[in-house]
Order: sequence, then structure tokens, then C-alpha cells
Amino acid sequence: MKIGEPEKFIIDGKRLDGRKPGELRKVKIEVGVLKKADGSAYVEWGGNKVLAACYGPREVHPKHLARADRAILRCTYSMAPFSVTDRKRPGPDRRSIEISKVTRQALEPVVFTNLFPRTAIDVFIEILQAQAGTRCTGIVAASMALADAGIPMRNLVPACAAGKVGGEIVLDLSDVEDNFGEADLPVAIVPQKDEVTLIQMDGNFEKGEFEKAFKLAVEGCMKIYEIQKEALKKRYGGA
Ligand code: UDP
Repeated sequence: MKIGEPEKFIIDGKRLDGRKPGELRKVKIEVGVLKKADGSAYVEWGGNKVLAACYGPREVHPKHLARADRAILRCTYSMAPFSVTDRKRPGPDRRSIEISKVTRQALEPVVFTNLFPRTAIDVFIEILQAQAGTRCTGIVAASMALADAGIPMRNLVPACAAGKVGGEIVLDLSDVEDNFGEADLPVAIVPQKDEVTLIQMDGNFEKGEFEKAFKLAVEGCMKIYEIQKEALKKRYGGA
């Protein structure tokens, strides 16, 4: 057993933070929180606190990156030094470069980049506080910032992870579950299109468990999708 590892993850059907296996942490989304960005969003998801800011479509620098037929989408994920218990060294590292790339890949399929040739759409994701699942929180925030900027999109992109802890498949891992659990499966989808734009896996599932975890993660995405739509309605009204 590792230092800090709990003896049990589920006691009397409840997880260590009191949630049921299929329950999400508390999620709060607000859009239009930054005056100087074209679009922005703030997401609190359990102990994660994440800001996203969108700029564009705007001129591309450096110019050689411009594409004649479409806009380029650039996503930058970055963790504040104070976002984690052990101070995070500022600046990009392998993990943040990877998460920036998968975030772009998760969002690109919904953005009508063809409408804005020779431009750039930039999204910056700042993790202010981290408590497991920051890539999903970042994708949700970035998707909301794009929508808030009025960038034409086919849909919003919700994201959510499922995983395995103490032999059980659970939704939306907490930090202890992420650190000591058996598996983590973050997923992002395009609702109504049956399209998966992010799927990564850390750890091991036994036969049949992957399908169960994937289904649970998609259900989590659909719950997040409802919260995303509510946040837009709250800011912009509409039925
Ligand atoms: N984490 C940390 N220091 C780091 C990177 C990550 O403490 O430099 C923590 C943070 O709480 C993060 C968690 O480890 O949410 C899990 O990180 P992972 O790489 O699995 O990505 P995430 O689950 O945040 O998408």
C-alpha cells in the first residue's frame, strides 16, 4: 500500500467524498467573466477551478501558420504554480503540451473553421486549482469560451471521466481516486452526433469493464452538457 492510500474506496455504497458510484462532483459554469477576451468562461468542478479565454478569429502570427481554406484553432492549457499542493514549475511541460493538443483535437471537429480562412482562434485555459480531471474541466471551459465569443460551432463539447476504484466502476474521479485507483478514462463527445473527440486511458480494466466505464463517462458528458446549456441560457436568455 502506498503512502496516503485509503484502505477502502467505497464504504456502504458511498465513496470517500460521500458520492454514489455514478455521481458527479458539483459543477458550476459561468460565461462572459473576462471583459478583455472575445469570449470567456469560469468552471468550478469539485475542487477544480478553471478559467478559459477565447480570442479571434484574428490575424495569424507567425503568418506562415495561416491556412488559405480555414482558421487554425490553437489551445493552450496551463497550470498555475499555486494550483497544486507541490508548487508547479511555471511554463509548458510535456503534460501541458499533451493536454493542449488533445484539447484542440476535442474541440476542432465542432468549430466551423472553414468560415474564417487565414485567421487564428486562440483559446487559453488556466488551471487555477486542480483536483483531478482538469483536462475534462478545461475542455468544458474552452468549449464555453468559444461559444461565448460567438464562434460558429456545430455543438458544445462536454467532457467527463469514468474510472475504476476499489474494483468498482465510478464516475468523475476525485484526486484520491485518481492517485490510487486502478483506471481513469476521460472522454469528450459531440452530443447527438455519436462522435467521440477525446478518449484517453490510464491504468487497467478487466474484460467488460471498459465498455461499462465508457458508457458511464458518456452519461456524465450528457449531464455536463445540460449544465453547459443552462450556463449559456443564464447569460444570453432564450428558451
Ligand atoms: N497534478 C499535480 N501536479 C502536476 C500535475 C497534476 O498535482 O504537476 C494533479 C492534479 O490534481 C491533476 C491530477 O494530478 O488534476 C491528475 O492529473 P492528470 O495528468 O491525470 O490530468 P487530469 O486528471 O487533471 O486531466
